Amino acid sequence: MDSEQLREYGHQMVDFIADYYKTIESFPVRSQVKPGYLRELLPDSAPKHPESLQDVLNDVRQKIIPGVTHWQSPDYFAYYPSNSSTAGFLGEMLSAGFNIVGFSWVTSPAATELEVIVLDWLAKMLKLPNEFLSSGQGGGVIQGTASEAILVVLLAARDKVLRKVGRNSLEKLVVYASDQTHAALQKACQIAGIYPENFRVLKADSNTNYALIPDKLQEAIMNDFSSGLIPFFLCATVGTTSSAAVDPLSELGKIAKANDMWFHVDAAYAGSACICPEYRHHIDGIEEATSFGMNAHKWFLTNFDCSVLWDQNALIQSLSTNPEYLKNKASQENNVVDFKDWQIPLGRRFRSLKLWMVLRLYGLENLQSYIRNHIKLAEQFKELVCSDHRFEVVAPRTFSLVCFRLIPREGDQDNGYNLNYNLLDAVNSSGKIFISHTVLSGKFVLRFAVGAPLTEESHVKAAWKVLQDQATILLTDQ
Ligand code: PLP
Repeated sequence: MDSEQLREYGHQMVDFIADYYKTIESFPVRSQVKPGYLRELLPDSAPKHPESLQDVLNDVRQKIIPGVTHWQSPDYFAYYPSNSSTAGFLGEMLSAGFNIVGFSWVTSPAATELEVIVLDWLAKMLKLPNEFLSSGQGGGVIQGTASEAILVVLLAARDKVLRKVGRNSLEKLVVYASDQTHAALQKACQIAGIYPENFRVLKADSNTNYALIPDKLQEAIMNDFSSGLIPFFLCATVGTTSSAAVDPLSELGKIAKANDMWFHVDAAYAGSACICPEYRHHIDGIEEATSFGMNAHKWFLTNFDCSVLWDQNALIQSLSTNPEYLKNKASQENNVVDFKDWQIPLGRRFRSLKLWMVLRLYGLENLQSYIRNHIKLAEQFKELVCSDHRFEVVAPRTFSLVCFRLIPREGDQDNGYNLNYNLLDAVNSSGKIFISHTVLSGKFVLRFAVGAPLTEESHVKAAWKVLQDQATILLTDQ
């Protein structure tokens, strides 16, 4: 790397990105291109001779940006957020600058040690039990995504139980979750070799808030035991993907513990809110959990990817390897953390830098205000929905997600499915806002998730106007 070239090009790139953020509201939020658009715009093969940065940036402007969906736009309300911030960006930049591969302590002691320290800081902000701190028996590790976190804990749980009951009992192992649990668990079961018929998807409580019902879990576990099966893994969610429901951790955890099961808590989205004292109660019962995960890259101002997982030191029993070519004195003496043994890949990026930057450049109080502001904006949006008799809110608003829909006319053949599908399509095709959808109790539901760092009250009000106007057009056409 030529330092002076980096300085010159780096400045140009930062200017380019700063201008992007300045003008971000001018782009359609959801990309409006058609599949295959880029092949028509780019050459068939890579250039033989170097091109200029200016030429590349021109192409980014003209050919790439039209195909970008602007997750950082203040008018982005789809799925769950994936935050960027100056602090997170700078951390990413520094990480790219060092470009180390910190799989073992010795390959960059600072990368391992900073990760341990920063995840202890975050665990303390969340008031996690001491067992999850590095001073206790466990500790935190940064995974790429919540899906990877779920997979590694499932693998660790599988191996733990198989060590006890015998390797040939795989076909008897049973996994439990609600029908609101993220599909990442299903994928993890497929990878871990859990028999599909042993994945118990329990119907969540659709009368109240779509949370897992402890009695249903207890009943299913008893049935499975009496059929000679081995219940071994429970996944609860704090902030489900469809409606941000919160499973009752204390009760579920007690059931898991009584039956010697691994209890994973997936708080990918809503975990961030639990740094606020008034939302911390959502993870009451976390002391019953074997592992706990949250995505700092969702709603915690830390650029993708940064999924934090705490466990009580069981991962390494399942994921450790010790090949000759990686042996070194520090690892042999057994007094360092080697994060390669807490994850699937060998290589790993210096991701703790960006989380460290976020925690230091914001501080706890600003992070709490950030979360509170989004929740306040979501509540305002909910009130706007309630004030229009054509719409209804279909699930309790717990964090910054509002689930709502246009109420179908009496006798509507598909219970408002097409009506709401068309509304979703119309608002997203307008390019003015981007929202997403789900299905709850057979109803096609619109999801409005506040959480982009640049979103202010004016954006929420404008978004509501887009929805109202499109609804008026649709209802008039009906
Ligand atoms: N768990 C929950 C509750 C989620 O909402 C999501 C994604 O939105 C995931 C897991 C998967 O996250 P990731 O993309 O980090 O794997």
